[in-house]
Amino acid sequence: MKAMVLNAAGEPLRFEERPDPSPGPGQVLIRIAACGVCRTDLHLVDGELPDPALPIVPGHEIVGTVDALGAGVDRFRPGDRVGVPWLGHVCGTCRFCLSGAENLCDEPGFTGYQIDGGYADVTVADANYCFPIHGDYTDAEAAPLLCAGLIGYRSLRMCGDDIEALGIYGFGAAAHIVAQVARHQGPKVYAFTRPGDELAQKFALDLGAAWAGDSDTAPPVELDAAIIFAPVGALVPAALRALRKGGVVVCGGIHMSDIPRFPYDILWGERVVRSVANLTRQDAEEFLELAPKVPVRTSIEVFPLQQANDALDALRAGNLTGAAVLIP
Ligand SMILES: [Zn+2]
Ligand SMILES: [Zn+2]
Repeated sequence: MKAMVLNAAGEPLRFEERPDPSPGPGQVLIRIAACGVCRTDLHLVDGELPDPALPIVPGHEIVGTVDALGAGVDRFRPGDRVGVPWLGHVCGTCRFCLSGAENLCDEPGFTGYQIDGGYADVTVADANYCFPIHGDYTDAEAAPLLCAGLIGYRSLRMCGDDIEALGIYGFGAAAHIVAQVARHQGPKVYAFTRPGDELAQKFALDLGAAWAGDSDTAPPVELDAAIIFAPVGALVPAALRALRKGGVVVCGGIHMSDIPRFPYDILWGERVVRSVANLTRQDAEEFLELAPKVPVRTSIEVFPLQQANDALDALRAGNLTGAAVLIP
């Protein structure tokens, strides 16, 4: 197999050839057709996430074809097209797993963090955490659904039901999917980008946002909820200031710079700040069925696998509209 490997935080990924893995009990062997590049991969490579299982193959937006089944797998057959997301394994016995909150499992395994991921042409994955890909998406188009889409969908659910005005801070891969789902479900989207990022603002308006502007300006209406995808803690008080009483600010990223101190009165009025962590199998099944019905269209930029470092650099520099996808 071919893979791009992170050996140490802060270093570029290195290309390696290795023997193909074989699927253990409960696992499937997958021939990878495409893997999306997520901001979390950037946090991993930059050393902003604790205790990665180095050396590690990053990548948790995998789309491919089942090639071989480990013992006991009856969920798939060879030839099935599947996606593999960030949540790759859970313990099944902790209080969180037992209460339906497997996204908060005490002993989780995350794809591309503790479990070798999709910056490769082959991988093995727990069959219970692989999901059929529905709809007419190409493999590359489907890849961003596996994290940007899933985390975006869970973030949107955490905003509550009674929302008409939804703010989205940071208009990248997750936001471009959430904006389409939100438009399908009803709320109007107010998109906030880095000050002066006219390209991203135009992108948001093209996807049906009611308004797009700089993140340091106030929206034209009071927001019922806001999702922050940009890893910028200063956006939390900014979003709170734009929020109505009882509204919620959802932080959708795994890493964020420190949140600056802010006066209690912008939280007063039963406003809520919360994070969204990982996903459950139910999120994956619901969203992957919903996406082709919206239909969610993904905007992608394709890179060959061996140019993974270039794709990460482009994401770091903010030079992508939509999502980078690696093709082996
Ligand atoms: Zn658990
Ligand atoms: Zn991700």
